[in-house]
Amino acid sequence: MDVSELLDSLNDKQREAVAAPKQNMLVLAGAGSGKTRVLVHRIAWLMQVEGISSHSILAVTFTNKAAAEMRARVEQTVGGNTHGMWIGTFHGLAHRLLRMHFQEANLPQSFQVLDSDDQLRLIKRIIRSLELDEKKWPAKQFVWYINGKKDEGLRPQHIDAQFDPSEAVFVKVYKAYQETCDRAGLVDFAELLLRAHELWLNNPELLSHYQQRFSQILVDEFQDTNAIQYAWLTMLGKARSNVMIVGDDDQSIYGWRGAKIENIERFTREYDDAQTIRLEQNYRSTANILNAANKLISNNNNRLGKELWTQDDAGEKIAIYTAFNEIDEARFISGRIKQWRDEGKKLDEVAILYRSNAQSRLLEEALLQGQLPYRIYGGQRFFERQEIKDALAYMRLINNRDDDAAFERIINTPTRGIGNQTVALVRDAARSGETTLWQACKQMLHSQQLKGRSAKTISAFIELIEQLEDDSTNLDLDQQANFIIQHSGLKAMYQAEKGERAAQRIENLNELVTACQTFESDPELVEEQTPLTAFLTHAALESGESQADEYEPAVQLMTMHSAKGLEFPLVFIAGLEEGMFPSQQSVEEIGRLEEERRLCYVGMTRAMHKLYLCHAESRRLYGQEKFHKASRFLRELPDDCVEEIRMQSQVAKPATKGRFSSTITMETFANTGFSLGQQVMHAKFGEGVVLNYEGSGAQSRIQVNFADVGTKWLVVEYANLQAI
Ligand code: ATP
Ligand code: MG
Repeated sequence: MDVSELLDSLNDKQREAVAAPKQNMLVLAGAGSGKTRVLVHRIAWLMQVEGISSHSILAVTFTNKAAAEMRARVEQTVGGNTHGMWIGTFHGLAHRLLRMHFQEANLPQSFQVLDSDDQLRLIKRIIRSLELDEKKWPAKQFVWYINGKKDEGLRPQHIDAQFDPSEAVFVKVYKAYQETCDRAGLVDFAELLLRAHELWLNNPELLSHYQQRFSQILVDEFQDTNAIQYAWLTMLGKARSNVMIVGDDDQSIYGWRGAKIENIERFTREYDDAQTIRLEQNYRSTANILNAANKLISNNNNRLGKELWTQDDAGEKIAIYTAFNEIDEARFISGRIKQWRDEGKKLDEVAILYRSNAQSRLLEEALLQGQLPYRIYGGQRFFERQEIKDALAYMRLINNRDDDAAFERIINTPTRGIGNQTVALVRDAARSGETTLWQACKQMLHSQQLKGRSAKTISAFIELIEQLEDDSTNLDLDQQANFIIQHSGLKAMYQAEKGERAAQRIENLNELVTACQTFESDPELVEEQTPLTAFLTHAALESGESQADEYEPAVQLMTMHSAKGLEFPLVFIAGLEEGMFPSQQSVEEIGRLEEERRLCYVGMTRAMHKLYLCHAESRRLYGQEKFHKASRFLRELPDDCVEEIRMQSQVAKPATKGRFSSTITMETFANTGFSLGQQVMHAKFGEGVVLNYEGSGAQSRIQVNFADVGTKWLVVEYANLQAI
């Protein structure tokens, strides 16, 4: 793109930001106003007009997916290479720094990133070893505590718990956990940030090197930065006055994880002459969607205040669907998606958003039933699946013997007759000797503290790992993975399991080999890490995000949190009920309620053309049927932007037993003469099953799944359906 094109595709305000002189800048604007576009064009501008080298640019965004997209968009815009440019998440960039300067950061070269699942396991172990009662002290609380403190930049020694016995316990666990991680060369997500910060704090020359290098710093989604990220950024960029941040206070949704909206105002106070530019035109959504979202968010207090308008038409109204129950909700959504596909539109233009991952199961069931391919972001992610974690644990232990989390996972997987008691002995020895589990095993064998069967099984395990390493080090990464999966006994173990699930596990293990094959190391780090280390890090950092298979166009399912920054022509939000969304805890606390409302604002503003908001009158939760009121967020929407779709409920309530089966109930839909699940015949389309119904009188329509032509909506009056 040449310079005039670069600017032509922008409005005046956007242009002002993109072509501004080099300075500190805040772009503050609502959803869909082109903030991310401005950031990408600014990078292109800096390179093409200001002659800045890609090497001097550092851009931060919120997810790996967004980072990859940003790199692609920059490459497209500047028509070439972004070599040497640092684009990534705060975590990804911190990791890169630590890898490059592991010695200065006091880390072993083979240090490994600990994902949240492994962190939880490790903390459970610490709780046990400190002989705390897990019922009284749930591991999750410690995870929150430790990550929270790290996000604030606090080590155990910084916390004064003298007068608070319960906090003293937290600090004790934090300390023991940290010692274990340090010994094992493990770095959790929060630690990545804290260490990277300390790296610069303790090594001023290194900091000054990076301050020199990165003459331009750009941050997307700034409203969700936490204290340590802000501090890190400030160390790097403040002195040079070269930071552009873009964000939207109304989209701050990570307060529960330490994000601070105040950082936006803090930036304008603390950074010299920071200029604020506001964008007010929205290019994403129809007027109905935008006006409704604006109205919703106006119920929050303490906003920085922004305008947002669109030139777009009103568009279709937002549809609110009141389902009988959660099954009906899922079925309705899949029905509408089928309709979308039948109109010849693409499935990857559709997203289903929800508050919590647990909601995805029923939606998945309905999509499967409707033969609609889908992909889940978050939830059971590829790198978090059991069999994958098992295989990765072998790879990790081969890579680094001191990785206690990996050791724990596979010491007896597949079972090799190592009893819990033996493992407990090893743990005790490791704790008292302040060493890692692996080292403790070796010492115990050496000093003959382990005897008989225990000695035999443990030394067999040690040999297995050593042998696996010896036999596989010279192989290419994918062959190495394959070798390890075979010879660790994992494959045989999963093959011995029966059924569909086992087959899927084997498939996933094969997919892991493929992932190794296509994996490309970070080019900046080829010297610093082996392909195996690089891959393991990638797996840990990715585990929070997308799945592996991204080929087929598919409906996307995700939480509203993971939908940040994305946009889709058709969006469904499921589960808009009091107690679900807003969540029960949040309604009791004004700050949290406002964050829920912002989350709803984020969800709604993902939609470009059509938005469905769904809620169910009853829902099975934790084995109990609950009756929820519709979410207050629905009531907060302006009447003229929404329309209600509602089946003639009472009479057509399906029995929950027959989940999605075609014979759900025999009760008839109001005044149609047909019932859910009924077999019907149509002159042109042939035989089918009644799935759904909407409207009343002459307008009423009925949805039928025909054996030959799939699902269709028909106007009852004209369809001339015959019951069969
Ligand atoms: P969010 O707050 O959700 O992250 P955003 O402010 O980052 O949104 P973008 O994703 O950059 O918004 O832009 C929203 C959509 O509007 C994109 O499809 C983008 O290509 C388009 N867009 C932005 N600016 C313009 C413009 N000047 N002309 C035409 N389309 C634009
Ligand atoms: Mg954006």
